[in-house]
Amino acid sequence: MNSMAMATHLYTSYSPITTKTISSNNNSDKVLSLPLQPRHAISIASPSLSLRTTTRFSISAAAGTTAVQVDGPTTSNKGPKSLPFRVGHGFDLHRLEPGYPLIIGGINIPHERGCEAHSDGDVLLHCVVDAILGALGLPDIGQIFPDSDPKWKGAPSSVFIKEAVRLMHEAGYDIGNLDATLILQRPKLSPHKEAIRDNLCQLLGADPSVINLKAKTHEKVDSLGENRSIAAHTVVLLMKK
Ligand SMILES: [Zn+2]
Repeated sequence: MNSMAMATHLYTSYSPITTKTISSNNNSDKVLSLPLQPRHAISIASPSLSLRTTTRFSISAAAGTTAVQVDGPTTSNKGPKSLPFRVGHGFDLHRLEPGYPLIIGGINIPHERGCEAHSDGDVLLHCVVDAILGALGLPDIGQIFPDSDPKWKGAPSSVFIKEAVRLMHEAGYDIGNLDATLILQRPKLSPHKEAIRDNLCQLLGADPSVINLKAKTHEKVDSLGENRSIAAHTVVLLMKK
């Protein structure tokens, strides 16, 4: 193995995994089959120091087969395989359109507009899922649960949260704390904030003392401020069990 090889660390329990690595500056085309065990880090190294590498993962899970493609610049990753803490950030935004339900954190919020989306368009749960996946070093929600897959069509976002929590436990982590911010002009969230937070705690299996939820307007500017979209940010800290 070239000592300069770049590595991608993937924490997962899916088994088996087949990895095809294509390097842009030579014609190597290598397929690796790696047996995976729960809580083990998989190190997938590309054969050369190319500036851009495309890595395709075919993950066979109990629920079916999910194809994941990660395409982007790669960086050297020589850190420890297992960290006591891992931080993740999630962001999501949805258009608000008349005639759709507005579901935030699994709670149906009365409003004249809602999210037009493949699933239930739950902006908070989507961005919490992305934060957890990010902390685990996994691909994003769109790659793990592609909207082209009929399996996820119309799925409530609680399904995605439960899968992210399952992956987190299998990697050997618990939620340390989570801080989320919703951005929307209307409706006022204060009457619903506790119900949203309680449901989020339940879905995550986390104590309310470590789950924080904030909401703010967008000062009436841009689509967020004009009641045409809704967005959320989440930061999560995972702690090794
Ligand atoms: Zn979303």
